[in-house]
Amino acid sequence: MARSFAQMARSAELSSRVQVPKEPVDQPPLEIHTLGDAVLRTPARRISKVDEAVRELARDMLRSMYTAKGIGLAAPQVGVHKQLLVIDLDPDNPATPPMVLINPEIRSFGGSLDTYEEGCLSIPGVYLNVVRPTAVEVSFRDEMGRPQKLRTDGLLARCIQHEMDHLNGVLFVDRVTDEISLNEELKQQGFDRNAVHTIR
Ligand code: ZN
Repeated sequence: MARSFAQMARSAELSSRVQVPKEPVDQPPLEIHTLGDAVLRTPARRISKVDEAVRELARDMLRSMYTAKGIGLAAPQVGVHKQLLVIDLDPDNPATPPMVLINPEIRSFGGSLDTYEEGCLSIPGVYLNVVRPTAVEVSFRDEMGRPQKLRTDGLLARCIQHEMDHLNGVLFVDRVTDEISLNEELKQQGFDRNAVHTIR
């Protein structure tokens, strides 16, 4: 039996316990910290129990992420040092559920290296090329605490690596190799170059 569109929308709605409306809200529940704030440099701790408080944090992170027009947000960006990421590569489609990754671990990198322009809600206005592996295999717990494993490439692999860096206090600008562009972009957007911890 073919499902109607209404049924499909409904099942998508119910497929995630953390789904929230994707429209921006007037008062985002969580403040997103920016480059220079020490909270962004503090490593996150593992979450021992996935409960309703964790899901409510994920929902608040999503509300703040959608309002800021982002596609990924890590808990340290809102000053919470827990290993929790939210990702939604389809923020204009109200039906697709977001992804929640709790205690994510990279199992392996695959493919080759790729250069791609990244941005970050914690460094607004700055967009710079970063080299990363094109594919990853990652294990994590979902919003119900169920163990999951995902092998992916493309934008999702890129986004997972970017967000997982936040859990270790690493920002994408730390990985930028083009010094001249880095200095220019930071200056233009009013950020302090000394807040970047370049990885050699
Ligand atoms: Zn970021």
